[in-house]
Amino acid sequence: MICDRPLLEVNALKKHFPIRGGLLGQVTAKVYAVDGVTFTIKRGETLSLVGESGCGKSTVGKAILRLFNLTDGEVYLNGERIDNMPGHRLRMMRQRVQVVFQDPFSSLNPRMKVRDILAEPLLNFGLVHGRKDLKDKIETLMDKVRLPRDAIDRFPHEFSGGQRQRIGIARALAPGADLIICDEAVSALDVSVKAQIINLLADLQDELGLALLFISHDLATVEHLTHRVAVMYLGKIVELADRRALFAAAHHPYTRALLSAVPVPDPLAKQQRIILKGDVPSPIDPPSGCRFHTRCPFAFDRCRSEEPVLNPVAEGHLSACHLA
Ligand code: SF4
Repeated sequence: MICDRPLLEVNALKKHFPIRGGLLGQVTAKVYAVDGVTFTIKRGETLSLVGESGCGKSTVGKAILRLFNLTDGEVYLNGERIDNMPGHRLRMMRQRVQVVFQDPFSSLNPRMKVRDILAEPLLNFGLVHGRKDLKDKIETLMDKVRLPRDAIDRFPHEFSGGQRQRIGIARALAPGADLIICDEAVSALDVSVKAQIINLLADLQDELGLALLFISHDLATVEHLTHRVAVMYLGKIVELADRRALFAAAHHPYTRALLSAVPVPDPLAKQQRIILKGDVPSPIDPPSGCRFHTRCPFAFDRCRSEEPVLNPVAEGHLSACHLA
């Protein structure tokens, strides 16, 4: 293990999906789902990837998990390159990187009891020594996610949405992962349950030193959980900053528009909502220059022809805007 490097390094990641048509099924266009995304995550850190639906954030998570091959770029875990790892070594990577999905009901086998759901990864990765050890480990996982031990022989449909998500988190913890990718993991939960799951993830991070990649369409959700935030728009990161810096002084016009929609706790506090014009353009034919120029209230000539790069606007705060 190379300890002075971040746990996860994503360098210039691209994922373009071909669209095939015609009689011969030739490639007629491409979906530029992710188009040059770079970030790192340290051990024990949470980085949130935030943006509207279709911005490519979930594709980044799937690319890290190697659910498909990258079009370009590199991904390193613990200093070891994993994006081109041969199939027989992917098992090691899958032990270190786990995922919690948005809908725990469809990601849990309805015919398996909690006991079997949690036993599966423990057995698959050869982490148990006998029946008693298996039972002890399952109960420890249930304790960690605060599920009652007498729930061990219940099926997923016997739980509430929040409890099902606790089972999903316990399953992700089972192999001893270093990094958990939470893909809209709390989006389907109501407000109070959402807060409980966020608190649980924060406690587990403190206890286990986990790194989290938290993928969400909602900036308000990540505010109390994350250390840093990367805002994505049409396949690119447009702003990346420490949580406090981003919420106090966002730089990019797109981030400022997203933040203006976050409810403030004080009903008397003045907040001007920024309504973006138009829809998100198609990732099949993204706009030239700055991809946000078709909706940006500050766009000027240069924005239409020259693509802005992520540049520092303060220490640890990057923004891709010609106004930087
Ligand atoms: Fe707006 Fe231009 Fe900045 Fe893009 S580069 S965000 S269009 S001002």
